Order: sequence, then structure tokens, then C-alpha cells
Amino acid sequence: EMFGQLTGGLEAAWSKLRGVDVLTKENIAEPMRDIRRALLEADVSLPVVRRFVQSVSDQAVGVDLIKGVKPDQQLVKIVHDELVGLMGGDVSDLVFAKTGPTVILLAGLQGVGKTTVCAKLAFYLKKLGKSCMLVAGDVYRPAAIDQLKILGEQVGVPVYAPGSELKPAQIAKQGLEEAKKTMTDVVIVDTAGRLQIDKGMMDELKETKKVLNPTEVLLVVDAMTGQEAAALVTTFNLEIGITGAILTKLDGDSRGGAALSIKEVSGKPIKLVGRGERMEDLEPFYPDRMAGRILGMGDVLTFVEKAQEVMKQEEAEDLQKKIMSAKFDFNDFLKQTRAVAQMGSMSRVIGMIPGMGKVTPSQIREAERNLKEMEVMINAMTPEEREKPELLAESPARRKRVATESGKPEKQVAQLVAQLFQMRVRMKNLMGAMEGGSIPALSN
Ligand code: GDP
Repeated sequence: EMFGQLTGGLEAAWSKLRGVDVLTKENIAEPMRDIRRALLEADVSLPVVRRFVQSVSDQAVGVDLIKGVKPDQQLVKIVHDELVGLMGGDVSDLVFAKTGPTVILLAGLQGVGKTTVCAKLAFYLKKLGKSCMLVAGDVYRPAAIDQLKILGEQVGVPVYAPGSELKPAQIAKQGLEEAKKTMTDVVIVDTAGRLQIDKGMMDELKETKKVLNPTEVLLVVDAMTGQEAAALVTTFNLEIGITGAILTKLDGDSRGGAALSIKEVSGKPIKLVGRGERMEDLEPFYPDRMAGRILGMGDVLTFVEKAQEVMKQEEAEDLQKKIMSAKFDFNDFLKQTRAVAQMGSMSRVIGMIPGMGKVTPSQIREAERNLKEMEVMINAMTPEEREKPELLAESPARRKRVATESGKPEKQVAQLVAQLFQMRVRMKNLMGAMEGGSIPALSN
């Protein structure tokens, strides 16, 4: 089973939380050590492991318990979401040129599976309805040219191979011209690999990239090399500028370090993965499916997601009741702002609101800052003050104390209190309008 060792290591973490009723800093300490160890044994790079563990711990301790979900299940979900984020979140699709042929330049060290990937990629794109051409640019290994010809024939894709006399950049250029002539949708250019990184290879790649102006520059790396693969992606990106990686040999007993480190270390996504030697063994890289496979707990994840939805529904109903009885207090206020913050960056949320397209980044940053400042002030209030904002409205001394504790001017605290009451009024009016359902007639 792929990443079996990692799955087993994480399993140890959950098992230690069976029977606890809440996640605390103390009771997650040992499970977090298990997670850390499992990731390090999977050959995930150390800085990535550190950030990962820190982020998961922070979320686990602060999290609201979902009704019916056990703490260990909740931690599984947090780790899952963090794994997905680590691997880049969404699937990173191949980009196609708007006009003319799409050019995909493939680079990689010897033996990683680059030649095989050329043919697999053509096979994959053919299934998507694209016509393809392979260009044999690995001039240092005559066997590679022959291998590409054989594989091209096997998948029914023409191979442009003028031999090993020309320089790789020249071959690439001629190949591209040929593709334009034949109205080919996608040209896949193979390049020479070396046993290790050297200047000659990088210079050649730079030159080839320059003449091709490729749509995609993809580095092929071997999953068996773990975090070393992530370091390679980083180096190639800095040297020649790449658009992503293709991770091969995920079917072997690779430990997961490459899949988990590449995006976080290099900033470049894994676009495709190879999972075997057959031509059909190449597929897009789906971070969520990969995380699901690593955890091996599809049913738990689905269950937690459903429960989360129910909780959100109940909270919304609860909030509505409060609004109707005009009891909306600072706790609700805080919950609201946190809910917004949890939806990701404000910019994403604002982007989803129709008609809000013209909000500038600086306005968004300002809004985010405001939210943070509000939270600081609300945190400085006593539980009683949060529940009864009237206390703050009536007492300048209380406002002064909140101001001192939060390090904000008294005026700003007063503004926040006023804002809450304004919100109450506005919500009441809104509810009134909805209940009454009457719109006042406009007078002349
Ligand atoms: P290149 O030197 O980078 O061009 O590597 P090749 O394409 O010649 O592949 C090297 C070896 O790895 C070959 O035996 C391939 O069959 C094998 N290979 C390539 N991709 C995969 C993969 O995803 N899984 C497995 N198991 N083997 C692969």
C-alpha cells in the first residue's frame, strides 16, 4: 500500500486519543510527537514538519467540539485539511496555450522516468482529445532517442527525432516549427538528463527554454528520493524557472516525503503523478485524494464534514434566534468575525460577493486589520461584559480598562461598543422587514 508506513505512524497518534472528551495541550502532546515522527520517517523535510505540527496543534486546541464527533476524529480531520493545504490545496491543471501549439518542456535527472513520462503524457493528452508530437532532445543518450521512438509508436504519436548531431535547442526549435506546420495541439520536448545537476545541463535547458517559449516547464522527479526531490524542484525553479513537477514511481515503496514536501519547499505544484510503468499510469495530482489515501480514513472524514455542516446550520439558527430577541452580544460578534476569518482570507470572501470586484488589496488588508483589532478588544472584555454590552455602554471606567488591556485608544473601544448596538438595531429592522413583509410606499 502506498505510504503504508506513514499511514501506520499516524494511526498511532489517533489511537492515543481514544476515550478523551476534549483536545487539550496536554493530551495532544504525545499524539503530536507521533505525527512528527511519522512525517520525519516519511522523509518530509524538517522545516515543513515543524510548521505542520505547529499549525495542527494550534488548531486542535482552539477548536470548537462538534456534537457527536470524537476528539480523535476531529484531529484526523484537522490533519487531513492541513495535508491538503501542504500539497497545494486544489489540483493544479496543465495550462494550454490560447493560440498555436502548447509547448511542454520536460526536464529531469537520468533514471527518474522522464522518457517514459513523455510518452505517458502524450497518451494522457490524446485521451483529452489533443493531437501530440514528441521531440527527441536527449542527444547524449542515443538509446533515449530510440526508446522515445518505440514508445511514441506504442501510443500512436509522431516523434520528431533528427538525430544526435544537432544541439538540443536547435532540435527543439525545428520540432516546434514542424508542430506548427502540422497543426499539432501539444508538443512535448524531451531534454537530456544527467546523473546529477551540472552547469552544462542547466545552460542547455535555459537555451532550449529561450527558443521554445514553453507553456509549461515541468521537472520530472522520482518519489523514491523523498525530500531530495523537493530540493531538486527548488534548484531547477531558481535556475531555469519551472511551472511545476511530475512525480514518478509513486507506486513503489516511496515514503511520501516528496509528495508532501515539494509544494511547501519549492512553491511549485505537483501537476501529475506516475503510478506505474504502463502508459496509462499517469494522472493529475489531487491533494485531497492523496491526503485521504495517506490517512486511509475516508469514512471518518466524510462523517466529520457532515457533522460540521450540521453544526454550522445549528449555529446559524441559534444566531437567528438571538437576533430576533435582540440579544446579539460580543460573543456572537466574535464568533461572526472568526467565522469570516476561518473562511480563508477576506479577499477570497469579498471576491465571492457580486459587485465587490473593485475592492483594492489595501482596502482588504485594512478590513482584515480591523477584524484583528476588534478581536483584541473583545478578548480584553470580561465574560460578563461580552454578554451584557450595556455594561460597557454605561461605564466609561470599564471602557477605559478594556482600552488599557488591549492597548487600543478609548475612542476605538467606544466605537466598537456603538457598532454592536448599531448592528442590533439594523438586524432588528431587517428581521422586522422580513416578518412584516411590507415595503413602505414612497411619498412624493
Ligand atoms: P529517464 O532516464 O528519466 O528517461 O527514465 P526512463 O523513462 O528510462 O525510466 C527509468 C525506469 O523507471 C524505467 O525502467 C521505467 O519503466 C521506470 N519508471 C518510470 N516511471 C515509473 C513509474 O511511475 N513507476 C514505476 N514503477 N517505474 C517507472
